[in-house]
Amino acid sequence: MIITNARVLTFDAENRVLDSASVQIRDDGTIGEVGEAAADGGERIDAQGRLLMPALINCHTHLYSTLARGMPLAGPAPRNFPEILKKVWWRLDRALNPDDVYYSALVGLIDSAKCGVGTLLDHHSSPNACAGSLDRIAQAFAETGLRGALCYETSDRDGPRKAQDGLRENIRFIERTRPTNDGLIHASFGLHASFTLGDRTLRRAVEANRSLGTGFHVHVAEDRSDAGAVARLRDFGVLDQRTLAVHCLHVTAAEMGMLAKSGANAIHNPQSNCNNAVGVAKLPELMRRGVLVGLGSDGYTARMWDEFKTAFHLQKLRARDPRAAGAEAYAAAFLNNREIVRKIWGLEIGRIATGARADLMLVDYFPPTPLHSGNLFSHLLFGISNAPVDTLIVNGRTIVRDKRCVTVDERKIAEKAAAQAKSLWKRLGAK
Ligand SMILES: [Zn+2]
Repeated sequence: MIITNARVLTFDAENRVLDSASVQIRDDGTIGEVGEAAADGGERIDAQGRLLMPALINCHTHLYSTLARGMPLAGPAPRNFPEILKKVWWRLDRALNPDDVYYSALVGLIDSAKCGVGTLLDHHSSPNACAGSLDRIAQAFAETGLRGALCYETSDRDGPRKAQDGLRENIRFIERTRPTNDGLIHASFGLHASFTLGDRTLRRAVEANRSLGTGFHVHVAEDRSDAGAVARLRDFGVLDQRTLAVHCLHVTAAEMGMLAKSGANAIHNPQSNCNNAVGVAKLPELMRRGVLVGLGSDGYTARMWDEFKTAFHLQKLRARDPRAAGAEAYAAAFLNNREIVRKIWGLEIGRIATGARADLMLVDYFPPTPLHSGNLFSHLLFGISNAPVDTLIVNGRTIVRDKRCVTVDERKIAEKAAAQAKSLWKRLGAK
């Protein structure tokens, strides 16, 4: 395949912006020549001057939350984070059945694809439909064609038997998910959070993972009620280079040092943090101390562009300095997310360079002012982030074309998901 006549944001080592360039996509799903690529006899896409850039990455999400959209809440609104978990998310996840899991994943993936997200790292929970749940999500990934890493959020909150189920589901899926040539589906070892995990379960998880050799995906210090989590998880051996330590809001300077020393990756989810009113991440301090901080959505939105913008705005406000936050938001979204995926799973995505995976999007953006690598941030923030995604390609396969998901029947899935949600809400006692 070849894409011609595109304005290319390469995000390569020189961060080149190429005008009217062509990019070749090889049959193995990697990028071939960039710039003056020659036709290869395969499919030809004329970008007609559109912008071609790497597909976005979401480093933390919960696809299972998709069917909660519009769901009425019983009783008074939750007053704090523990109440949000108990009244909303733990009620919802206990009610999920395998079909809910499948349709919520499908809808979340279609939404993501249509706003240019090619890779999602998912953190799943369905305590009463645990065994095989990650297979249902993997099926949704395979059908849409997106790239991802899955895990089950092990927790003691529903008793020891459910904790055992969680451990078993992670182990089963990690063993099943052998690395493949296309690198489309990966696994991590999911843990809910320090405050819902007893010593015994944490020990068993670390012990089981020793031979599996994958990284943990765990919420860390999202709320004050989980303060002290970094030191505890470090002491149990959860934190290393492959760990996704999600949130890291309520951390001391010493704990930032522990995160940096362990090589664990902190994942910032600014819109979810705003919505749950749990606090503001100390982004510049974490980065200054050497913690690699990526960006996720925590299931709040499919639009990573909105997370990028919110990360930027939130840090400006926190610093009360209009000069703050550009570098951190840009690094998290465009440099660190791809570095985290490379570090953990060895995948080269997030750049348009020969040999990298062809995870790309064409955006309807025709710059009304000069655009070059020196002012790219401003175009991303004020222009490209608002422009429609015309085409998404993942691993060389076209997922979105003319703004429609072409790998699955979007309309039919929305209808089925709506029926599924209705039945789920009924089981929850909502209407
Ligand atoms: Zn989360």
